[in-house]
Amino acid sequence: MGSALKRPEVSTTCIRGADMVIAWDESVGGHSYLPRADVVFRGNEIIFLGRGYAGHVDVEVDGSGYLVLPGMVDIHSHPSLEPSYRGIREEHGVRDMYMTGLYERCMAYGVTPSSQLASAEVSYCELLLSGVTTIVDLSMPYEGWLDLAERSGLRVVVGPGFASSRWNVSDPHHLDFTWDEEGGFTGLKHALDLIASLEGRAEGRLTGIVYPAQIDTCTEPLLREAFAAAQDRKLPITTHVSQSVMEFREMQRRTGLTPVQWAAKVGILAPGTILGHAIFIDQHSWIQWWTRDDLDLIADTGTSVAHCPTPFARYGHMLEHVGGYIRRGVNVGIGTDTVPHNFIEEMRWALVLGRISARDIDAVSSGEIFTAATKGGAKALLREDIGRLAVGAKADIVLADLGDRWMQPARDPLRSLIFHSADRAIRHVYVDGRQVVKDGEVMTLDHQRALSILARDQREMEEMVPRLDPRGRASLEITPLSLPYSREA
Ligand SMILES: [Zn+2]
Repeated sequence: MGSALKRPEVSTTCIRGADMVIAWDESVGGHSYLPRADVVFRGNEIIFLGRGYAGHVDVEVDGSGYLVLPGMVDIHSHPSLEPSYRGIREEHGVRDMYMTGLYERCMAYGVTPSSQLASAEVSYCELLLSGVTTIVDLSMPYEGWLDLAERSGLRVVVGPGFASSRWNVSDPHHLDFTWDEEGGFTGLKHALDLIASLEGRAEGRLTGIVYPAQIDTCTEPLLREAFAAAQDRKLPITTHVSQSVMEFREMQRRTGLTPVQWAAKVGILAPGTILGHAIFIDQHSWIQWWTRDDLDLIADTGTSVAHCPTPFARYGHMLEHVGGYIRRGVNVGIGTDTVPHNFIEEMRWALVLGRISARDIDAVSSGEIFTAATKGGAKALLREDIGRLAVGAKADIVLADLGDRWMQPARDPLRSLIFHSADRAIRHVYVDGRQVVKDGEVMTLDHQRALSILARDQREMEEMVPRLDPRGRASLEITPLSLPYSREA
């Protein structure tokens, strides 16, 4: 699995004597605890996992006191957009649209190119700080995107968005569409050109994913052509499917089928296809539909699901239920659809909501969710060289401090991490053999500077809201603050 591109200096690093390593055990096809072990990588590739490495080493890292785990794989995120919504979207939803605020927000809150860059920089920092080393970055193309992705040091799966239509909500209970079919094909071509330009860049850390934005905003010919292009280029493909009740009803009205059944009919379900978020499928209690085919179609075609519980939980939505999806054979990966991009908290939500929706503590385990967050994501992206610590895999490695107050007692380090410390214990992160997070700080980006740009741009975005909102409301009318201003203010 060695990279064809050799660096000028290929050095060997040994993380010596780590207290605990989450190593890939090929004999059982899963992660396992390996205590007191060395993790050695040369260049961007792991060359040894085990006790007492005696070979030549250029850089020694003292692993005592650390949990060493594989870098996690986030298969659904919108870095250039979501941080702009901090303080705006957490409690924003439209009851007449079955609680989703997606459509109204897309219309009323417009982002600028400067805020997109700042937003992505903040997102990349949040992801790295929570132990993510690979992200699927789903964005509408913007100036400076690829340079920032390269500079971040992350492994970025670039997904330039395109669609045949835009959502249009003139009143709070009616989702409409403004069509531009030709524009969809132009968008696909632009996306494929952008993906082709990644070749040979950033030592292979930047790759592509074909991203027709939503099942309801793309025509059948566009979806077919996008899928064929992905197959030709051996690229993964993703689109939003079954993400709202409004979408389910629209697709049922338009096609007579559920969104998943229509996707199957169009022929886009396959290994390498990722559905974000496959929540409102036929069996979901809010749908009250009569068929029971959707989960079988997803599982039997080898299609993956990007499970992102946080934004939906805030609306009062739950996937029903993640353990059931996994047991049926669906490949599930985890994504952070919104802020915070705290991947470990996302895993906690997935676990807890998986049990609440099933009303069963055994519905899903920490080990299963960690597997989804690593190997599941890698499989969705058609890769076996990430999401695991194994000889021959990429050196995407995270060190969590076992001595952190939220980790102790660290009887079961993964439980300590998921249920207690989350990102607070993450100290060092390596991507492709290069250290990107050191002592809990991102080395490649300027988190604080990006945050101050974002705060300024968010104020400008809010000032524009009355001109963009079809009902001319101010931002504070759409999303009031959580507390009123004091009369003294
Ligand atoms: Zn999304």
